[in-house]
Amino acid sequence: MILFVHRKDLRVDDLPAWDAIRARGKQSLHVLILDPFLLKRERHLEHSGINFLQHAARLQKLYQAAGQRLHVLYGEPAAVVSGLLASHPVEELVFHEDFTPYATHRDRQLRATAEAAGVAVTAYDEQSLVDLREFQRGSGRSEPYKVFTPFYRKWSDYLLHFYRPASAVHVRELATAELHPSAAEAFALPPELAASLAASRGAEAGHAGGSTALAPDPHRVLGGFLAERLRSYADGRDRFAHEATSRLSRHVNVGAISVRAVYEALLAHPQREAWLRQLAWRDFYIYQARLDAHFFTYEKRYDLSTLDNRHFQAWCEARTGIPIIDAAMTELNTTGWMPNRLRMVTAMFLTKNLLCPFPYGEQYFRYKLSDYDNTLNRGGWLWCASLGFDAAPYFRIMNPVTQSETHDPEGTYIRRWLPELAHLPDKTIHRPQLHAIVDLKTSRTQAIDVYRGLLHSW
Ligand code: FAD
Repeated sequence: MILFVHRKDLRVDDLPAWDAIRARGKQSLHVLILDPFLLKRERHLEHSGINFLQHAARLQKLYQAAGQRLHVLYGEPAAVVSGLLASHPVEELVFHEDFTPYATHRDRQLRATAEAAGVAVTAYDEQSLVDLREFQRGSGRSEPYKVFTPFYRKWSDYLLHFYRPASAVHVRELATAELHPSAAEAFALPPELAASLAASRGAEAGHAGGSTALAPDPHRVLGGFLAERLRSYADGRDRFAHEATSRLSRHVNVGAISVRAVYEALLAHPQREAWLRQLAWRDFYIYQARLDAHFFTYEKRYDLSTLDNRHFQAWCEARTGIPIIDAAMTELNTTGWMPNRLRMVTAMFLTKNLLCPFPYGEQYFRYKLSDYDNTLNRGGWLWCASLGFDAAPYFRIMNPVTQSETHDPEGTYIRRWLPELAHLPDKTIHRPQLHAIVDLKTSRTQAIDVYRGLLHSW
């Protein structure tokens, strides 16, 4: 028997590990382990934790519809796997790889647990669209790409010549096993989690609101975007008052749809370049997370005690007095969503104009974003704080007022999220309020000085 552990791959098709399972012709025991650490600390049962559970419920339904068995268990992953190995005739443990520090640590423990029990372990790489291990530059091909544009060139070329299509194996083709009652009892979900999953399973797909909705079908979300909005994406993506982007991130990040399925659907559309480039940014950050030794530890360079807590709190609570910042933070706090351009604008404002170390903002987004992903969130914050590969130059600081005037001249977005300003004319609605906590001009000059010194001293 093969033990397959689901992680950020909450779907029933295009799972490279399943090609191997089918080829071995063995029965497989499929589990999804709800890890108390991730639910409490990383995903926090606020927005992205809810997204994960809604997709877990959807996954249970997909298995059920295919007449197969998925066992959703609760506990510390190595302890659960150890219990499963003790109660089932498992010969091999199989999963898809993840590269965050927590995932690396967890997988080391899983490997040690399996090896101690004499069980083989095989991990498959499936997060990125291309095989990033082949991405080195230089004559000896030992240097990682540090700048996005050459990376993108190589990436596009790779897709043309070496792309490996999505796997065709569907869960219905596997022989999934029952769980031994002792394991079902030992790793049962706490009642509130079990009730939440059951309620989601019973809810209608896409039904808005609350933690108990069922996640929508990501293939439909993608299909809707490709049919209706792709053609205007290049021009519309930064017009944050309109829903011009795909809103696919929260589904891709839990693996509810594979990035290969996304790419293959996109191939049918001639106007794909601008959107494809965004998928390349995703791979670029995954690449950095694997190759930049500092990617997960840049905060060690900061003196985190220098925080002006009043400024940070005002930013979190949408009280900065800069309308577009407060509108964007209000949307985030209310819905768990913020458009990409405004993520850049609010992050730059926090790290540069307010001189707040990036980990504070990075952590705040972690708790609030429904599409939170450790690698992409960190990549975005590092870019805005002028750190990491191909970061924004330290002297490039987006002016929130200009950004608002350029991308939403009528102030529609501010009026939507800050109704108290709705009466203001288009011309003045973007301007800082009387109580603004910083002057944009002087804080910009100061930030350039501070960052010049900071980056040169490292
Ligand atoms: P679309 O514009 O439709 O793009 C399609 C897909 O491409 C996205 O779903 C995503 O997978 C990828 N993508 C798009 N823009 C980027 C980008 N700038 N970087 C990397 N990949 C991208 N994205 C997350 O998924 N999770 C996060 O936690 C996250 N945190 C961020 C924090 C900051 C400070 C910044 C600046 C960006 C962050 N992003 C994050 C990237 C980006 O904002 C979102 O991926 C995007 O807004 C999702 O919307 P969409 O699915 O409609 O994207």
